[in-house]
Parts: sequence; C-alpha cells; structure tokens
Amino acid sequence: MTTAESQLQVQTQGIAQYPINAMNRWSSSFFKLSLPSNLGTRAAIKETADEGAKVLSIGVYIALRVAEVEGVPYDGSTYEGHTIGDESKSTSTLWAYETAFPEGFDTRDGEEFLISLGHIYKCPGCSGQGRVRCSTCGGRIRWHEKNWKDEIVEKICSCGDGKMMCPSCTGYGEQLKVLRVKTHYVFNEKKEKEYSGRLPERLLMGSTGNVIFRHTTEFQKRVIAEAIDGFNADEFTGLMADVHGELRSEVAESVARQMVNPQILTGLIDRYFRELPNPVAANQRLRAEMLPVRLKCEVTDVPVKSVKYQYKGRDYSLYIYSNDRQVWPEGKAPAEFTWKLGVVFGLFAFVCLLLIMAVH
Ligand SMILES: [Zn+2]
Ligand SMILES: [Zn+2]
Repeated sequence: MTTAESQLQVQTQGIAQYPINAMNRWSSSFFKLSLPSNLGTRAAIKETADEGAKVLSIGVYIALRVAEVEGVPYDGSTYEGHTIGDESKSTSTLWAYETAFPEGFDTRDGEEFLISLGHIYKCPGCSGQGRVRCSTCGGRIRWHEKNWKDEIVEKICSCGDGKMMCPSCTGYGEQLKVLRVKTHYVFNEKKEKEYSGRLPERLLMGSTGNVIFRHTTEFQKRVIAEAIDGFNADEFTGLMADVHGELRSEVAESVARQMVNPQILTGLIDRYFRELPNPVAANQRLRAEMLPVRLKCEVTDVPVKSVKYQYKGRDYSLYIYSNDRQVWPEGKAPAEFTWKLGVVFGLFAFVCLLLIMAVH
C-alpha cells in the first residue's frame, strides 16, 4: 500500500465514523416511526463535505430599574431603611442604592427594595382607625344559618366585635410613602451568519460551536459613576462610540487571522451600533432608569457537515450540525415499514380486540 493510499484510507475511516454515529442516533428515535433504525450503519455514505459556518453575535447586557410609589404600614418609629436624601453623593438616581451587578449575561431579576419618601399620612383603608369591618362575618358577629340537616343554628364569629385589623396599615393607622424599586437584567443580542449552505438559518443560529473570537467590555464602574451625576442620552452615545472603535480595532488585529471574513464581522458591528436604540433617552429619573452593564461580541465556529448517502438503491442527503451533532434531513428521508410502526400497529390491533371483546 502506498503512502497516498493509506492516507486516503485513514481519511475515509475518519470521515465515515462521525456521520454514522450521528445518523444512528437520529434514526433510533422511536417517534420517527417510518425512519429505519441504525440508518448510519445500514446506509452507504457516498460523500461528506464540511461547510463550517460562523455565527456572529453581539449584544449589550442591560440593567433596568423601575420604581412605583406605594404606601407601607408605619409604626411611628424612625424608618430604618433607605430614605431619599440620605445617600452621600446624590439621591436623584435609583442606582445610588444597593447596586451590585451580576456576572455574566443571563436574563434575571435583581435587587428589590424600598426607599422612603419621608411622607407619613393617615391610612385611607381604615381612616386612621387601624381596624376595619371583619371580612369573615361582615360585621354581623352573630347570625343564623341552616346546617346540612336543615336545622337552624346560631353562628358566632371569633372576631368578637365585628372588626379586624386593617391589612393596609397592619393596625398602625398610618402609612409611609415609599418607592418600591425592582431591578431586571436583560441581554439584547443580535446574530448574523457567515454561511452560504442550505442548512436553515433557524437551526444554525440555535447551534452550539466553538468560540473563536470573544470581546467583552465592562461598563459598570464608569456608568455607575455617571449615573450618580445623571447618566444621560449623550453619555450613552459617547460610551457606545468608544466601544465601537475599540471593537473595530480588535477585529482588525485578531479576527483577520481567523478563518472568518473580517468584513462580515465589521459589517455586523457597524450595523449593530447604527441600529442600537438609545434606551437612556427614555429614562425617567427615579421612575425607570437603565444602565448598560457590559457588552459581548462573539464569533462561533459551528460545525456543519453535508452528507450524501444511499439507502436501498436511492439517494438521500442530510446535514449534521452543532457540537451536539444534530441531524437535519434535506428533502425526503427513507421511509419504510419499521419495527416502530410494527409496535404501533400491534398496540392498535390489541386495543381493537379488547373493544370487540367488550362489546360481545
Ligand atoms: Zn367577624
Ligand atoms: Zn389602615
């Protein structure tokens, strides 16, 4: 055997095993009823081609804080929590309180807390009495009703006086006006592909692969400092312009050496920044305020392999894609009477038999 021949053989063996396993796993699913099991082993693989795709993604991790005014029970003592005006630097932003941004890019809920607005008022639920009509007896205390034997019996409510504690002020008669603050973290991501094959985009974009370029920028320290002074729409634009420039130069330096076409990546980056809405413009101080936390730009190399194979004399093709080797049949897949269909028909016949026996 010549070196060329042995190389060819090694190559064929190497290529052959990967699609066979993926096809066997795919075709063994019971719910693909007419698809012959162990198709990888039983089919003749004619041709495979790597169409390796690049998925580009870019996004900003955003922190959003909203506040609503509400009343909470007030017991007359000094309020121990946050009070508007007590923070040293500024109290004109919700980010002056309890700000600890999470790591990573997961969508999640963050801190929830109250800020006292310092205003105390008579509870509207009980007009300051601390007690309201009893919800169990409606203030009747004693009444008559029929029991299950149709006898009239007397009922006496445990409240004693037809009243109960006011739930709005828990009996204090006063409420304190506060801001209830809630925090949410979201990742707004955009994706683009460098791929010209036939695997549908929705499958490609949801695939896993190997990250070949990653750039992250942390804004948190800078934006918190700016938020204290009043983070505004111009500052957001300035911040994004800085990141845009930084990303472009990094792409020029490092991505050009990768397999990805740098024009596609810079195109995506430019378009992303051009179309990026300025969420800060919609900020309402102490009502709804957002801050950009960090940015991530990634290029993922997604394995995509096209496979042409023959089964019982007919030609078929499919794609194997993603790190977990998913299979997408391109066009028709082989269909025949399989053991899976046999099981289904067998069960059906058995049920019919039971029904016939039940009737007779
Ligand atoms: Zn009662
Ligand atoms: Zn009340």
